[in-house]
Amino acid sequence: MHNNRVVIVGTGFVGMSYAYALVNQGTVEELVLIDINKAKAEGEAMDLNHGLAFGPRKMKIYAGDYADCKDATIVVITAGVNQKEGETRIELLHRNAVIIKAVVKNIMASGFDGILIVASNPVDLLAYVAWRESGLVASKVIGSGTALDTARLRYEISSYINIDSRNIHAYILGEHGDSEFVCWSNANVGAKPLNAVLNSMDEINFEDLDHIYLKVKNAANEIIKRKKATYYGIGMALVRITAAIFNNENRIMPISVLNDGAYDCIDDVYIGLPAVLNRDGVHHIVWLELNAEEKLKLKKSAEILKTNLKAIGY
Ligand code: NAD
Repeated sequence: MHNNRVVIVGTGFVGMSYAYALVNQGTVEELVLIDINKAKAEGEAMDLNHGLAFGPRKMKIYAGDYADCKDATIVVITAGVNQKEGETRIELLHRNAVIIKAVVKNIMASGFDGILIVASNPVDLLAYVAWRESGLVASKVIGSGTALDTARLRYEISSYINIDSRNIHAYILGEHGDSEFVCWSNANVGAKPLNAVLNSMDEINFEDLDHIYLKVKNAANEIIKRKKATYYGIGMALVRITAAIFNNENRIMPISVLNDGAYDCIDDVYIGLPAVLNRDGVHHIVWLELNAEEKLKLKKSAEILKTNLKAIGY
């Protein structure tokens, strides 16, 4: 029996932004914090506990160890180094793959049989590593993928056409990284295709769409340049993924998954695709009719990921 417990491994900026958002949104009953720096995890647990009097629900929050993963519904990995200015996510691969392997080994030694979510970068590659090393079925191993990039896209389109970002249904697909792309062919505003919305507006410049894509793609670097790391956005994205699982929502989110044959241009790689999430993890991948250019971009993105997986022995 799984209880309503989330374990976070890695209590740095990303892990704690996620934890803080979980506490504020009252998403879970029990939150366990693990870090190689045990004192950091303890201090973070103390600090969060002191906010509970102002939070939306009763919660149990504590610094734990890997044995606490056994009965967890979800374990989220946010451990590892982050990007420095000018560094790509893929450049973190060798350092973080070693960390993820060690962390996954410890999680699985507890007898964990829940859903494993990876946020550490390069997230698609590390989600694949976590899947292979854990022995869990692929539907139970998820990378945050392009969830954050998609939120950035929705924000940018929203600002451009002045419609609430929650009404923007458009995805960034592919690698969470430089080869990601916008699936413009399936972008909608409410129930209306984005193209039709743009056509009906005055003073729309279609080149602005390229500009929107570049803003999304370069967002992390722009933030890192200014404040050294990005964390609030991914923290909130992880809460949304967590809620979709706990509440058995069958919610569609662009996350990093192992393709189940829905897209015939890719196989044996974790990559950002829209997927239906519920209490069992990934229920299925949503197939979108991509245009020829988008299919090529997805294939290229998958090839980049595969080359990098080979470089670390998969
Ligand atoms: P951070 O340095 O603030 O935190 C990392 C934490 O991991 C530290 O507390 C460290 O002690 C811990 N850690 C390191 N090795 C460990 C191990 N073996 N076991 C347990 N804990 C360990 O970094 P951050 O800014 O929180 O970033 C964490 C990761 O998240 C990075 O890889 C970063 O690139 C990634 N990230 C992902 C997204 C996304 O969209 N998926 C967005 C932002 C950042």
